[in-house]
Amino acid sequence: DQMSLPRLASGPRVLLGGSFDPVHHGHLRAALEAAEQLECARVDLLPASMPALRSALAASRLHRRAMLELAIRNEPRLGLDDRELARQGTTYTVDTLSELRAELGPQAPLLFLLGADAFARLASWNRWRELLQLAHLVVLNRPGEALRPPADECFNAARIEQPRRLLQLPLGHWSCLEVTPLAISATDLRRRCRDGRSLRYLLPESVLDYVRQHRLY
Ligand code: ATP
Repeated sequence: DQMSLPRLASGPRVLLGGSFDPVHHGHLRAALEAAEQLECARVDLLPASMPALRSALAASRLHRRAMLELAIRNEPRLGLDDRELARQGTTYTVDTLSELRAELGPQAPLLFLLGADAFARLASWNRWRELLQLAHLVVLNRPGEALRPPADECFNAARIEQPRRLLQLPLGHWSCLEVTPLAISATDLRRRCRDGRSLRYLLPESVLDYVRQHRLY
């Protein structure tokens, strides 16, 4: 079970947070390409229990976790960190990064990946200025989403051009990382499902089978 493997105290941790409702090829390609470009052993997908800024999720946390497990099963460079699922109520990224930082110690690089759409709304996140005191942020391009950093001088001064350089420092910076643009969103997948249209080739076949079997969405 890759979630319970002990981790080297000094090794970097790289995470992609989200609702994964359901997980799709946009998430999976972005995470895998980030692992390759950053030259890190693994990127962990971090499903949220109840994201603060969303209405009720369409699939339960058990279903979302099961779909993630199916999606990453044969890919050693992708992992699952399910700590937020165990938490009751609203989950804030800042609290999760704080917990991870405490586990890693002060020296290990901690990187939190997020899409350009999420990044554009960063200033609405709980205690968002503290995020860079705990980790680095890595912004993934997403079709139709321009790069919109929060209007904050300190934050903008923290930008680093080369994402790989983030791994030489524990925290405090942000960078952009270019991934294959895939215009796939979970909202669109849920809508297609409701409308009786096919989801095939937008997400892994194993996840599609699971959605059908459990009549999700
Ligand atoms: P929804 O449509 O329900 O909001 P979503 O498709 O955006 O879902 P999330 O689970 O909210 O999926 O996304 C998790 C993270 O992955 C976010 O930071 C999001 O920006 C990013 N992401 C999602 N889809 C893509 C994509 N196609 N390309 C790049 N990044 C993506």
